[in-house]
Amino acid sequence: NQGPVITIDGPSGAGKGTVSQLVAEKLGWHLLDSGALYRLLALAVSHHGMSENDVETLKVLAEHLDIQFQQSAEGKVEIVLEGEVVTQAIRTEEVGNAASKLAAIPEVRQGLLLRQRAFAQAPGLVADGRDMGTVVFPSAQIKIFLTASAEERAQRRLLQLQQKGETVNLETLVKTIKERDERDANRVIAPLVPAAGALVIDSTDLTIEQVVEIILAETAKAG
Ligand code: C5P
Repeated sequence: NQGPVITIDGPSGAGKGTVSQLVAEKLGWHLLDSGALYRLLALAVSHHGMSENDVETLKVLAEHLDIQFQQSAEGKVEIVLEGEVVTQAIRTEEVGNAASKLAAIPEVRQGLLLRQRAFAQAPGLVADGRDMGTVVFPSAQIKIFLTASAEERAQRRLLQLQQKGETVNLETLVKTIKERDERDANRVIAPLVPAAGALVIDSTDLTIEQVVEIILAETAKAG
């Protein structure tokens, strides 16, 4: 028995990461941050100076890339790529954009598919991404599509980046967020769309806690 799966899909900056982590913690379930897998692949491609055009090699890399999610002494999850801690390094805009480009390649998505499904283990899984409910876990018991306006998402991202000491301009952020949305929503393979039967939550005017409550209530109803 692989246990139940909650899929949480949506555009970047909708709060999926934080929400997924909190829901997984509250339930004591496993967490899959699928965006991190695409980011790790992008970082590895850059480290190895690989070509984005050699799709067969990219697929093999996606299937076999040495990735570990380790619990640190403080209980935080450290992400390790080929022996190197890259928890922070994968969170830059640059890596995010490179990830989004790789994510449009069918062979890359295929290469990551089974690795993602392997995360579904008892007592349950919270899967965070773009195609969790549509492609990776189509028979998930609970499907959520979490969104927010592009302006609100840019604001949140701005705050995050400022806290990290990065200087960015809000207008530029709104523009790149809209471009990334376009690319993710209009790609041929696994476009970002709500799964059939997904509960759509617009978090523009909601707090993280409110979103978590809605998802936990939905889970209790399904259980
Ligand atoms: O969520 P995050 O910003 O970490 O994802 C980085 C990129 O990876 C996204 O812009 C998207 O293009 C891609 N992605 C995807 N499918 C997923 C998760 C992420 O295509 N399930």
